[in-house]
Amino acid sequence: MLKPFTEQGEFIHSFIFRMQDTTGFKDFSNIVSTTGRWKEYIYIHKNTGFIFERHNESDLIQLLRNTGFDKKYTVQGRAQELTKPTKYLEDLQKLINPTSKPRGLMIPNFMSREVRFCKSCMNEFIKEYGTGFFKGHWQVSKYCNTHQIPLLLLKASAKNTSIQNIRRIIRGELLNEVQEFELKEEDLFVSPQLFA
Ligand SMILES: [Zn+2]
Repeated sequence: MLKPFTEQGEFIHSFIFRMQDTTGFKDFSNIVSTTGRWKEYIYIHKNTGFIFERHNESDLIQLLRNTGFDKKYTVQGRAQELTKPTKYLEDLQKLINPTSKPRGLMIPNFMSREVRFCKSCMNEFIKEYGTGFFKGHWQVSKYCNTHQIPLLLLKASAKNTSIQNIRRIIRGELLNEVQEFELKEEDLFVSPQLFA
């Protein structure tokens, strides 16, 4: 069974991507946009739903937490834990049985939809777990707290090119289509510790 890296901070798009990739599912339009970024409204395909049924609800909820669903952003650009827990079960329903339009569950608007990653983290994940994955923390930062280096950004491209590149990133391949973030001083401080 494909394991979600809940405690390591994996976010929901990453897990759905890996799950579909592993099972040979071809349609990634539920999580990757036409401009090759992570999607704003996401859902689980009906015919992959059985894979999610094998996971504990608590694992899926943790993936939502890693996607910022239990946080809000302050004016200073820092994340804060919400005092009231969000409606996780309602959110899960939108994800698994999307009925509304636009289709699916909307991710919090402070989460960037750029494909960002830390090269050193990715290499360590592959060594330790046999696969790379994407952390929710990277969607609110341009800087890796663990390695103290700028994150890499996958350049915008068509959806299918981007899907190929995401696949290559989680296998640890080197890509020309990435660029390092140029950090300003404030970028080192906005990185919310809650996601680390
Ligand atoms: Zn790192």
